[in-house]
Amino acid sequence: MSFSSLSHLECSRTGERVDADRVAGTSVAGAPLLARYDLDRVRETVTPQDIAARRPDLWRYHEVLPVRSPEHVVTLGEGMTPLLPTPNFGKHAGVPTLLMKDEGLVPTGSFKARGAAVGVSRAAELGVRGVAMPTNGNAGAAWALYAARAGMKSLIAMPNDAPSITMKECLSAGAELYRVDGLIGDAGKLVAAAVAERGGYQETSTLKEPYRLEGKKTMGYEIAEQLGWRMPDVILYPTGGGVGIIGIYKALLEMQELGWIGDKLPRLVAVQAEGCAPIVDAFARGARESEPPAEARTIAFGITVPKALGDFLVLDAVYATDGTAIAVSDEQLLAAQRTLTELDGTFICPEGAACFAALEQLREGGQVAEGDEVVVLNTGAGIKYPETVELDVPMLGRTEPIPAPISG
Ligand SMILES: *Cc1c(COP(=O)(O)O)cnc(C)c1O
Repeated sequence: MSFSSLSHLECSRTGERVDADRVAGTSVAGAPLLARYDLDRVRETVTPQDIAARRPDLWRYHEVLPVRSPEHVVTLGEGMTPLLPTPNFGKHAGVPTLLMKDEGLVPTGSFKARGAAVGVSRAAELGVRGVAMPTNGNAGAAWALYAARAGMKSLIAMPNDAPSITMKECLSAGAELYRVDGLIGDAGKLVAAAVAERGGYQETSTLKEPYRLEGKKTMGYEIAEQLGWRMPDVILYPTGGGVGIIGIYKALLEMQELGWIGDKLPRLVAVQAEGCAPIVDAFARGARESEPPAEARTIAFGITVPKALGDFLVLDAVYATDGTAIAVSDEQLLAAQRTLTELDGTFICPEGAACFAALEQLREGGQVAEGDEVVVLNTGAGIKYPETVELDVPMLGRTEPIPAPISG
């Protein structure tokens, strides 16, 4: 039995087959490449019971990951995050069976570690010596740190508005880091030009290499495994480039083909911020591709992606599962962040909070029922975003007594 059952890459638009054992970007059609596995072989050689006995990290699904040899695995211990009940927010929102997949607990404090672990491992296996990418912050931080672990160079460019902690993570990792006076798309053009000019780097922008998606799809495998190999009714995901939601959908289809889960698929919900909601607009028009908004701004910085290369794949996932796409305001998502923290004691990132705010709206609109079992993806730790909380705290003089409690 081999470590990986990777068989080939496939163009997500044309189905064209591409050799998986050479460094690959996008297809000739310019579309994302999807990793395909010999699932018949996986079905014959491994069972969910075998997986249950493995180490609690994402490499427990190694047969459906692209890294061929265990020596090439670059890991910081990512994966198998808690599927944590948040019953008090659930009651508050009228959805008592509410679970949060908490990606704030992975190395680097965001789920981007999953994509970086698998992407960097596979790049190292294929002989890549340097990775280069634009980012809204978390992906750059994760790739810089995993690249450091792999002894690889990293070249990262991010909008000046990206969370400063993510810049500091890149610097600590020894990355070559640039801030760009613009959005992620602007950073992407600069990186692509530098890669073409310099050589020696692989461009690892969102969906411009096939393996980041494979790391992120493990969120789908974990949700299934943690629920006893069945699916919830609804999964909400904060959608920027869309890799997470595309990955979860890919995992669902693979698990169905493997016979590890049944016919029922969860409704996948793409959540965006009103300040940048191209997928939501496309969904509202019934379109298969998105149009970039004229302006893009939200405090949920990780989902500020005006035009995603994989927009059509996100929309496919939403349509195919009878899901929906919904936008919330910054005010609503910050309020939900606060409510969740007060009620359930978990301080989450603004992107994850957008999903909790969206859930309140979907419940009010009747698109989510009281009896639904709902999983929300919290994609990062709240402590990476200190600016989301106003520091409104009384200041005491050195000998000034703490005031009596306000009665009532
Ligand atoms: C990148 C990011 C997202 C969006 O992820 P995609 O899978 O690219 O849509 C959501 N939340 C956080 C915290 C992120 O860093």
